[in-house]
Amino acid sequence: MSAIDSLPPLREVIASHGLSARKSLGQNFLLDLNLTAKIARQAGDLAGCDVLEIGPGPGGLTRGLLSEGARRVVAVEKDSRCLPALQEIAAAYPGRLEILQGDALELDPLQHLAPPIRVAANLPYNVGTELLVRWLTPPEWPPFWQSLTLMFQREVAERIVAAPGSKAYGRLAILAQWRAEARIVLSLPPEAFTPPPKVSSAVVHLSALPAPRYPADAQVLSRVVAAAFNQRRKMLRAALKGVAPDIEDRLIAAGLKPTDRAETVPLEGFCALARAVAQG
Ligand code: SAM
Repeated sequence: MSAIDSLPPLREVIASHGLSARKSLGQNFLLDLNLTAKIARQAGDLAGCDVLEIGPGPGGLTRGLLSEGARRVVAVEKDSRCLPALQEIAAAYPGRLEILQGDALELDPLQHLAPPIRVAANLPYNVGTELLVRWLTPPEWPPFWQSLTLMFQREVAERIVAAPGSKAYGRLAILAQWRAEARIVLSLPPEAFTPPPKVSSAVVHLSALPAPRYPADAQVLSRVVAAAFNQRRKMLRAALKGVAPDIEDRLIAAGLKPTDRAETVPLEGFCALARAVAQG
């Protein structure tokens, strides 16, 4: 029996189901159930919530989410070898765990969840950033999720919470901070995982704001920011010349200097620029 539930410890689960970690699937498992329960607690009060988990693997975080009281967990896992272990968890928590097998980038798990919805995951590194950008850029706001509690490589976590002027500041910081409150809530050394990855990790918690901090069209803002940071060290007027033929005028209309560099421009400045570009 484990510390948090009546199921076997994760090392036993992995051994009995032959779940040797596969690098191609970004598999670095968390085997300490006290730690997975602690990560689940960072997601906030789960009692009345459905939780979407991507990549449950052998189910360490899944068990944390369930033992911390999630109303329901919908877990999407690509590796079919993990399904028997996950089914044992579903049996221990009747009616509270739905397992979907497939690629999280292709499945639409939303058909299986009811609001309020929180997302929690120790993401596979290869798909983590892509999923985050999708969750941050839906056509409508507020999004389907109330909060995202996600494990990333430390370097990616720092890009999400970065402030203007820092080396990590860029597209991820702007997309995340425009419509969400983002903070790093836990740092984990490589040894917390089996097998240990090469780099440290961190858990980021993002809560969706009811409305964006500054008005802007999401698509225009995305385009402006992508162009601005694509050529980081260039002056804005050079980096953005493909965005509008009279970009210099638009920069001035937005209160920016054409000679500014993207890494020094605060979120508010990019939103003003997106509005000036959209007015064109
Ligand atoms: N949540 C488990 C834990 O914390 O121990 C496993 C985390 S491991 C870093 C990432 C998991 O995501 C693996 O189980 C892997 O098989 C799964 N995975 C990888 N790519 C996926 C994808 N595209 N869709 C769904 N699951 C995926």
